[in-house]
Amino acid sequence: MHHACLPKPAPCPACGKVLEASTFTKGTKVEPKPGDLSICSTCGAVSQFAADMTFLPFDFEASDEMDVAQKVEIRRMCAIVRARQKN
Ligand SMILES: [Zn+2]
Repeated sequence: MHHACLPKPAPCPACGKVLEASTFTKGTKVEPKPGDLSICSTCGAVSQFAADMTFLPFDFEASDEMDVAQKVEIRRMCAIVRARQKN
């Protein structure tokens, strides 16, 4: 899991919060690129970077490209974000 600044701030498709940095769940790179996933630090929604580096809603449960371990990891991070939200 890596944190990096976005090339430009983009709103979360789920809650509308403008994100300036992103949490990555895929690979070990620091620079985001189209197709990478991000978890909103405000609402815990999973988004995917579009070609123009804005966020698209991403249903990782429906993705068959992702292995089970990765889905478990993403679900775990979403739960952490949502738990933090309640405080
Ligand atoms: Zn959000």
